[in-house]
Amino acid sequence: MEIAKDCVVQFHYSLKNSNGVELETSHGGSPMAYLHGHNNVIPGLEEAMAGRNAGDTFSVTVPPEKGYGEFREGMLQRVPVKHLQGAKRWRPGMVAQVSTDKGPRAVRVVKVGRFMAEVDFNHPLAGQELTFDVEVVAVRAARSDEIAHGHAHGEGGHQH
Ligand code: ZN
Repeated sequence: MEIAKDCVVQFHYSLKNSNGVELETSHGGSPMAYLHGHNNVIPGLEEAMAGRNAGDTFSVTVPPEKGYGEFREGMLQRVPVKHLQGAKRWRPGMVAQVSTDKGPRAVRVVKVGRFMAEVDFNHPLAGQELTFDVEVVAVRAARSDEIAHGHAHGEGGHQH
């Protein structure tokens, strides 16, 4: 079936920046799963997925405005070190998760003190042109619980 709203899509991908450096890949692990049409993935990737079928492979280059946004100045904030999630010891340049009133956010650690850290709330991939090499593994209709939750369940999706 073709990828359209309320499909669950399983796909493998590798992500490169504009210098051709690979930043992430799902190869070697399980494919990712997402619910199409629910903003589970960045807009540029979701648009490129529409109408594809299982077995399709393609590349798409996504500008910042359809990716993780432009890099903005003035996004530095001081937060308590204990609010950083994802590692035990923090060093500058590491990416942490921080809970906000809009949900979890990835932030880049700029400075770390004993109790407070300075973090950059720009998404770590903000301002970057990103190229995704995608292989669509499977496409199926979403179940009603997935549509109600707004995300895919099962392998590569939410496990709960
Ligand atoms: Zn769920």
